[in-house]
Amino acid sequence: MQVNIPLKQVIDNSYDITIDTIEKKHFDKKVAIVTNPKVAGLHLAYLLSKISAKELYIITVPDGEEYKNQASIDLILESLFNHRFNRKSMLIAFGGGVIGDMTGYAASIYQRGIDFIQVPTTLLSQVDASVGGKTGINNAYGKNLIGAFYQPKAVYIDPHFLSTLPKREFGAGVAEIIKMTVTFNKDFFEFLEKADLHDKKVLQEAIKQAVETKAEVVAKDEKEHGLRAALNYGHTFGHVIENETNYKTYLHGEAVAIGIVMANETAVAMGLMSEEEAQRIKNLLQKYNLPTSYVIKDVNNFYETFFLDKKSSDASVTFIVPIGIGGVKITDAVDKELILSVLSKFGE
Ligand code: NAD
Ligand code: MG
Repeated sequence: MQVNIPLKQVIDNSYDITIDTIEKKHFDKKVAIVTNPKVAGLHLAYLLSKISAKELYIITVPDGEEYKNQASIDLILESLFNHRFNRKSMLIAFGGGVIGDMTGYAASIYQRGIDFIQVPTTLLSQVDASVGGKTGINNAYGKNLIGAFYQPKAVYIDPHFLSTLPKREFGAGVAEIIKMTVTFNKDFFEFLEKADLHDKKVLQEAIKQAVETKAEVVAKDEKEHGLRAALNYGHTFGHVIENETNYKTYLHGEAVAIGIVMANETAVAMGLMSEEEAQRIKNLLQKYNLPTSYVIKDVNNFYETFFLDKKSSDASVTFIVPIGIGGVKITDAVDKELILSVLSKFGE
């Protein structure tokens, strides 16, 4: 299965995304695979059975969001300098979204930019993080605050890797798939209501649909001046939940699932979505054991935390509210009282 990302319309950097077993490939250059011990232990042998290079190096960084930082970037760059990588050399990001974001960022700054390829191994990174060219790291001020828009040369999405993914990580990816169908793809939402993503064929189709949606949105608005923000549906609320629970209780996709429910309640209160539609979305989330409720201890505090989100400019918060199923509205004009009353439904 092959998806042609139509990025050429906006930047001269169109690239291919394949959703299939990786084909054997030889690169006549220096290549470094950037990965972590967990992914390497599970799947490096498989990747090496597919990919070879004139000189091939493996760079391993510690596993975890807490290592998505400058120290890991330094480690990667150090290794590239040690091995005398030049501007024709290439990186391969081999892992989940953390590895993808860091490798892309390292590629964007090494000697002002070298090629990189994404080989995403989590469902979340296959349907979301590996496509669209956002790269970066976290620092003490927050998540993804340092980085670059930098597109990969190709994305190889091989469903083979998902066989070892823990259930919760799978669910986290499903939340992002549901996010994209509610906002942009009504037909596929309705298909998913009847289908089961544990079925390999259904999953492969869902990855394709999600990737196509994301590619289309990014082609129209690479640097998030408008439409791309719609991909943050569920995230405005989700980020506050992650923040309140110190990033420990929920995986990102799980917090997004709750955030989707909150955004839907907002849409219902604004008259943009029916109760029935909101219930259908909740049912689909619950089908994959995603959390859909959350106890807000202090509604005002929750509201104030919106303003810590970097995606909001000083005095306003951008809300992504669905219009029924298959539509979306991006607005910073949501009445504070309305939000507070929606939030109070989630209170103790
Ligand atoms: P992750 O990269 O931390 O992976 C989750 C865990 O699964 C890790 O422990 C990882 O080592 C492990 N893992 C990876 N592949 C596996 C496999 N096949 N089998 C078993 N375990 C495996 O998390 P993630 O959910 O993939 O990505 C989250 C990150 O992606 C965040 O840092 C987020 O900011 C970023 N992100 C970026 C974008 C973007 O557009 N660039 C979009 C969404 C998310
Ligand atoms: Mg997300």
